[in-house]
Amino acid sequence: MLDERLGQLLQAAVPHEARVAVLLVDIRRFRFVNETIGRQSDDNTIRECARRLRESWPEQDNVGRIASDRFALLLGEFDNESELLLAIEQTVISTFQTAFTVDGHTFSLSAVAGIALFPEDGADVDTLFKNAEAALVQAKAASEPYVFYQPQMNARMAHTLLLESKMRGALEHEQFVLHYQPKVRTHGARIAGFEALIRWKDPDGGLVGPGEFIPILEETGMINEVGLWALRRVLRDQAEWRKRGLDVPRVAVNVSAVQLRRRDFTEQMRSLLANNAGQALDIEITESLLMEDIEGSIEKLEEIRDLGVKIAIDDFGTGYSSLSYLSRLPVHALKIDRSFIDGMLRANENMSIVSSVISLAHALKLKVIAEGVETDEQCRVLQELECDEIQGYLVSKPMPADEVARMLQQNALAA
Ligand code: C2E
Ligand code: MG
Ligand code: MG
Repeated sequence: MLDERLGQLLQAAVPHEARVAVLLVDIRRFRFVNETIGRQSDDNTIRECARRLRESWPEQDNVGRIASDRFALLLGEFDNESELLLAIEQTVISTFQTAFTVDGHTFSLSAVAGIALFPEDGADVDTLFKNAEAALVQAKAASEPYVFYQPQMNARMAHTLLLESKMRGALEHEQFVLHYQPKVRTHGARIAGFEALIRWKDPDGGLVGPGEFIPILEETGMINEVGLWALRRVLRDQAEWRKRGLDVPRVAVNVSAVQLRRRDFTEQMRSLLANNAGQALDIEITESLLMEDIEGSIEKLEEIRDLGVKIAIDDFGTGYSSLSYLSRLPVHALKIDRSFIDGMLRANENMSIVSSVISLAHALKLKVIAEGVETDEQCRVLQELECDEIQGYLVSKPMPADEVARMLQQNALAA
C-alpha cells in the first residue's frame, strides 16, 4: 500500500513541479530487545516505535512498516527544505529521546534514516526506495542519525561488493603476500626482528596495501581466515630461512580485533605453535582494540604470552589507554604511532608525547619501538631519548621474504 501511496504522491507532484521525500528508518539496537526481553515484548516495542513515528511525522497515513525493524515514511509536496529537516529531526531524533518502557522493562532505542528526494534522486518508486536504502547504509556506517542520498553512494556500494568478491577470490587463489619490515636496535643498529605486513597481488593491477582491504575482510569475517593464513605463512617463511642455515629472526604479525574476540583464538595460536618447534612468532595489537574489552584481553593475552609469544601494543598514543590497566597487560612493548614520530621535529607537543611514552614504557619495564622513522634527524633524537628500537623507511621499506633472506645473509657475513 505504501508503494501505491508513493506512486500517487509522485503523480500528484509532477504537475506543480513539487518535491516528495522518502525516508527509510531503522530502529537501532532492536535486536538487543529481542534477545534480552523476549518476543512478546518485541512486538510491543515495535508497536510503540510505530506509534511514536506516526505521531511525530507530519503525514500520519504515509508511515508504514516494511520489514521487522524498518519503517518507510513519505512526505508529499513539502514547501521547503527547512520544513523537511524539521520533520526529520523530530521524527528520527526527538521522538526517541524519551526512554521506552515496555512490559516493565525500561531501555532506550534510537533511529537512523536514509532519505531520497523526488525528482532529483529518482523518478519512480523503485529507484527512490533503492537510493534511500543506499543513504541508510551510509548513515549506519558513519553513525549519523540521518543521511541524504548522494549519487556516488551506489557506485561506492558497488565498489565494496566488487572488492568483497575479489577478496574471496584472493583467498581461494592464494593472491595474498607478506612483506617484512625490519626493526633495528637504536644503538648499534642490529636487527631486532621483523614485522609481517600483508599485501594483495591484484591480478588486474599491482600490489594493493592493507588499508584498502582489511576493513572489508573485517566486516565480512574473512579476516579470521586471512589472519590465520598470515600466521601460517610467517611460520613457513621462518622454516625456509632456517633451512638455508640463517639465524631466524622473530617476526610479529598484526592481529585484528575480530580475530582476538574469537573464543578459540588462543587455541588457534596453541595448535599453530605446537606444530612448529623453536618458533619465534610475536603479535601486534592496536591500542584501541585492547581497551575495548580490557579484562577479556588480559586473560587471553596471558595465555598467549605463556606460549612464548611476545605482544606489542601497536599505534600507541592514538587510543585511550587506561594507565592502571596498562601495567596489568601482559605486553612486552609499545609501538609509538607514526603520526607522533612524523610531527616530532615540527611540534613540541609531539616531542613531549614521544618522550613521555618512552619514559612511561621504561617505568613499566616495557620496550619502546618508534614506527615510521624516515630521517636521520628523527633517528638521532630517538637515540637521545633512549628509544629501544626503530622501524621505518630510513632503515628499510617492507620487503618480500627472499630479500629478507639476503639481508640476513649479509648480516651474518658482516658479524
Ligand atoms: P601498522 O601495523 O601500524 O604498520 C605500519 C605501517 O606503516 C605499514 O603500512 C608500513 O608499511 C608503514 N610504514 C612503515 N615505515 C614507514 C615509514 O617510514 N613511513 C611511512 N609513511 N610509512 C611507513 P601498511 O603495510 O600499509 O599497513 C597498514 C596497516 O595495516 C598496519 O599498520 C596494520 O594495522 C594493518 N595490517 C597489515 N598487515 C596486516 C595483517 O596481516 N593483518 C591485520 N589484521 N592487519 C594488518
Ligand atoms: Mg603493526
Ligand atoms: Mg602501527
